[in-house]
Amino acid sequence: MPIRVLDERIVSHIAAGEVVERPASVVKELVENALDAGASQIGVEVRGGGVSLIRVVDNGAGIPAGEVELAFARHATSKIESLADLQAIRSLGFRGEALPSIAAVAQVELVTCAEGEPVGTYLSLEDGVITSRKSQARPRGTTVTVRNLFRKVPARLKFLKSAATESGHIAHVVSQYALAFPEVAFSLFLDGRKALKSAGRGQLMDSIIEVYGAQVAQHMLEIADGGTGSIEIKGMVGSPAVSRSGRGYLSFFINRRWVNSRLLAWAVEEAYHGLLAAEKHPVAVINILVPPSEVDVNVHPTKSEVKFHNERQVFAAVQRAVRQTLLAQMPVPKIEEVATAYSPPSKLETTLSPSTAPSKPSAPPQAPRTLAASLPVLRVLGQLMNSYIVAEGPDGLYLIDQHAAHERIVFEKVRQQRLGQGVEVQGLLEPAVIEVTPQQEAVLRSHYAELEEFGFSIEPFGERTYLVRAVPHLLGGADWAGALRALLDTGEEGTDWTEKVAIAIACHSGAVRAGQVLSLEEMRELVRQLEQTSTPHTCPHGRPTMLHLSSRELERGFGRS
Ligand code: ADP
Ligand code: MG
Repeated sequence: MPIRVLDERIVSHIAAGEVVERPASVVKELVENALDAGASQIGVEVRGGGVSLIRVVDNGAGIPAGEVELAFARHATSKIESLADLQAIRSLGFRGEALPSIAAVAQVELVTCAEGEPVGTYLSLEDGVITSRKSQARPRGTTVTVRNLFRKVPARLKFLKSAATESGHIAHVVSQYALAFPEVAFSLFLDGRKALKSAGRGQLMDSIIEVYGAQVAQHMLEIADGGTGSIEIKGMVGSPAVSRSGRGYLSFFINRRWVNSRLLAWAVEEAYHGLLAAEKHPVAVINILVPPSEVDVNVHPTKSEVKFHNERQVFAAVQRAVRQTLLAQMPVPKIEEVATAYSPPSKLETTLSPSTAPSKPSAPPQAPRTLAASLPVLRVLGQLMNSYIVAEGPDGLYLIDQHAAHERIVFEKVRQQRLGQGVEVQGLLEPAVIEVTPQQEAVLRSHYAELEEFGFSIEPFGERTYLVRAVPHLLGGADWAGALRALLDTGEEGTDWTEKVAIAIACHSGAVRAGQVLSLEEMRELVRQLEQTSTPHTCPHGRPTMLHLSSRELERGFGRS
């Protein structure tokens, strides 16, 4: 074939592939257009995960009647004119690619009316070709309706997830813009159900309440005088009390553009260093304002990634602003802070030679070294609220959460068993039948192996029904079914499934609960076993097992020093 320039329709299709990855991309582009048009109200309506219908209604500037067709031409934009403009972008759009790309892969209708024009315009397109144009009345603003997305692109359609998942992505996009533009009233309806409605009163807090709920909002701290030089950092970060197990609660906006940035996520997580339990991630809404010339937004077709000219400076500014906010606004140190500070120096781990570890005759040499030395000798005094063990150590008072301590002990026991002679199994007198949901079943089928390793013997029995013949011994008399269900419900989140099974077993072994009366002897035994663990100060979930009130703290508290 000779070389030739591709025809316009093929070019649009190729561009559409980059710009319109899934229904949420369409919503993102249309919402950005509405924001660029200065809208104060933006309504989004979605059906069938966005494949059947996406409609975005705004009260922005509208498109003048004479430019309506042009808006659908490739590389046609009202937002930049020159190369210099490209270097100083203030609008969200500038490539002039969204509308033609969307029109290339869906049926589109547009109704728009610009300020001062007596009547609006209706335009419809199919496969990128205009099929109808007429005058239509409309108050100032624009409505874009997109139907049958990807109907002519089966490869894309097949790649889409369930309608619920695609709706979820759309809700995420609209939520992000509601966070970035608190002065705009957003509404989102998914299959007729109201999914989001922001007040549009200009308060970030309002948007946070709407998106994350009052419980999270209550713990958000405002970033105070953040930034250095030409970089300004604004927004809110969650106190460590509202940590999450995923990074989905980190939002970054650069000059109000929503971006994904591993660099920024890292900067924020660094700022929380030592304040969050392992595996936990913060909640944060961070606006970075920089001179447009300091940032290149033209590095990604959907503009979701940007490049800073001075990356190090931005990183440092974000980290400092967040850290200062956390330290300045954290509640007055209480006994909890003392407990966090109590983690032993990591030096201990490296200097402790196996010979100083309490030697268990049968312990295989590769078994995790115990760090008895990291816990001082504790003298059990009694029990508080049937949940906490009160103990005296060489330096003051220790309160031990009996349930958390027990979880830590069991967790390490099963992990050790698995590495060593194998997990102790308990056969059930009669095989038990369990039923699972389709979602649980998918998880179960991909994790037979790990479950087996920990002593669960499970086999298919009927439709979404399974036969359990044996369970880990540690769960024998306990709630093994609850442990199994909890595991199957966590799904694929987090990668280390063996760790997850060990945690579930520890959680449900249930021999020691909060609210359970323990004898002095039982408490001593628990503390002794806790001393044997490699990480005595936290439970497998990362919560503390104990709080420490030092002698100095006591003296200070009683005004003796
Ligand atoms: P870009 O946003 O990069 O300019 P688009 O293809 O998204 O490119 O839109 C093309 C043009 O159509 C925009 O530059 C703008 O002038 C006009 N436009 C699109 N959507 C709207 C809207 N909701 N309100 C007003 N004008 C719009
Ligand atoms: Mg645009």
